[in-house]
Amino acid sequence: MRLGGWVHRRRDLGGIVFIDLRDRAGIVQIAVGPGAPEEVRRVAGQVTSETVVEVEGDVTARPASMKNPDLATGDVEVQATTLTVVGPAATPAIPVARGKGEELAAEELRLKYRHLDLRRPEMQANLILRHRLAQRARRTLSDLGFLEIETPVLTKPTPEGARDYLVPSRVHPGEFYALPQSPQLYKQLLMVAGLDRYFQIARCFRDEDLRNDRQPEFTQIDLEASFVGVEDVIGYVEAVLVALWDEAGQAVARPFPRIAWRDAMERYGTDKPDLRYDFPIADWTAQVKPLGVPFFQSALGNGARVRGLAVKGGGALSRKDVDQLADAAKQLGGAGLAWVKRQGEQVSGSVAKYFTATALGALGVGDGDAGLMTVGLDRVTSPVMDRVRQEVIHRLGGAPKAAHAFCWVVDFPLFEPDPETGRPVFAHHPFTAPHPDDVARLDSDPLGCRALHYDAVYNGSELGSGSIRITDPAVQRRVFAHLGMSPAEAEARFGFLLSGLQAGAPPHGGFAIGFDRVVMALAGAESMRDVIAFPKTTAARALFEGAPAPANPADLAALHIEVKR
Ligand code: ASP
Repeated sequence: MRLGGWVHRRRDLGGIVFIDLRDRAGIVQIAVGPGAPEEVRRVAGQVTSETVVEVEGDVTARPASMKNPDLATGDVEVQATTLTVVGPAATPAIPVARGKGEELAAEELRLKYRHLDLRRPEMQANLILRHRLAQRARRTLSDLGFLEIETPVLTKPTPEGARDYLVPSRVHPGEFYALPQSPQLYKQLLMVAGLDRYFQIARCFRDEDLRNDRQPEFTQIDLEASFVGVEDVIGYVEAVLVALWDEAGQAVARPFPRIAWRDAMERYGTDKPDLRYDFPIADWTAQVKPLGVPFFQSALGNGARVRGLAVKGGGALSRKDVDQLADAAKQLGGAGLAWVKRQGEQVSGSVAKYFTATALGALGVGDGDAGLMTVGLDRVTSPVMDRVRQEVIHRLGGAPKAAHAFCWVVDFPLFEPDPETGRPVFAHHPFTAPHPDDVARLDSDPLGCRALHYDAVYNGSELGSGSIRITDPAVQRRVFAHLGMSPAEAEARFGFLLSGLQAGAPPHGGFAIGFDRVVMALAGAESMRDVIAFPKTTAARALFEGAPAPANPADLAALHIEVKR
């Protein structure tokens, strides 16, 4: 038998040297005993960690006492007859083999020495899973009649609400390409072109301020289909998601439950509700108002409401927990958090003297439970109560009702008011069709229009978004106008789409599944960076190769660019 791999660990027991040889498939033990050829013993005696070696030898059963049930190959070992160093290794900057309980190297180092970090079996398992999921997505969509078609990376801006990465053109001074925020317009034009069903595992680029689970470049399973409605697209996406979960050995049932955006905001304060736990936020205004609680009284009126959470077993929240919840609420600009706990007939807490046990019972706060509440306009109380609910889940945990809580959030608004100017800005992207029942109100009440937009949510995180698209160029122009674009500007930016829509556009719609997030969920990874081979840091830097980096003055000159410091 011939093997090649990396020296994971070496144990020298005097008479016999064991080498754990590692490759993508796992680890096997190489034994170099007193009977091995002298050259083999010499190499085994000095070979260091992470050196690449080639081994020839015979596979033998390990003596019963030497078997290792933790290792797939733990019943056997290879008695080396040759051992050759083919890739000597400098002392690794970060360890690859780790003892039990040994911490990982700091993430900066892991990202800098990515070739070493990627040697870790956990990271290899993540990338192997990622590969399998990508193949399964391809197969599933291809079987459903979708064609895999590549769209350009040097594009005209495709607005998805973020800033574009721009690429200067050398041959056209002063002109720029944009890296795609998504293949949105191209896939729509493919539908206009009659390609009917498209998909792509597409790299997308968004120049955003980074958060922990965002990457400036990320991957979507992007799809679009013609002659479809909401139900069809939801069906395709469910088929893909169920297949992906199946690929990872997880059975999930279809159809996923649906919740209207308005209800999600009302009951969970967010458009990505974590339905593994089902204690919803409720409107307590009517019950609480007559109690004359000063904390609420001054804030009520002008559309403000009291919103509360009845927390089962919330009596277990410590004073410190409650204070931290209140701080979190304050940070989000809320009025803060009022709280009560109920123990039999006893009520304690910040507003205890206004509540009887019976009044709390009527709000769903039973014996041993807590009631948490805040007051204000929905735009403030929704994020506050969402955060409070998540914190409570985090602190009290408990067994979730379900391990995989998928849902569809539907009937999103078409526009949202810009928090600063109050002007409509698009909620999904400007190509999303208004709900047919609301088109008539597009001009009179744009903010009241619902959209044919749906999001897939899994355990409280958004897995993807999609919509049925506008195909009537006149409606598309009206939407552009609501977003503050003059007809000339709309023509300059989106003329190619408008002319496509005038050329005979089939009804169409689609979706994009955030692939990195799916892999992260299925790998059980804590960071998106653990499922991407070469990710960027949260500061959008590639530490391995050192990007971004200053450009050569001659290159800048050729691009007609001068850098201002
Ligand atoms: N282009 C959208 C996005 O990237 C997805 C879609 O509407 O199909 O979120």
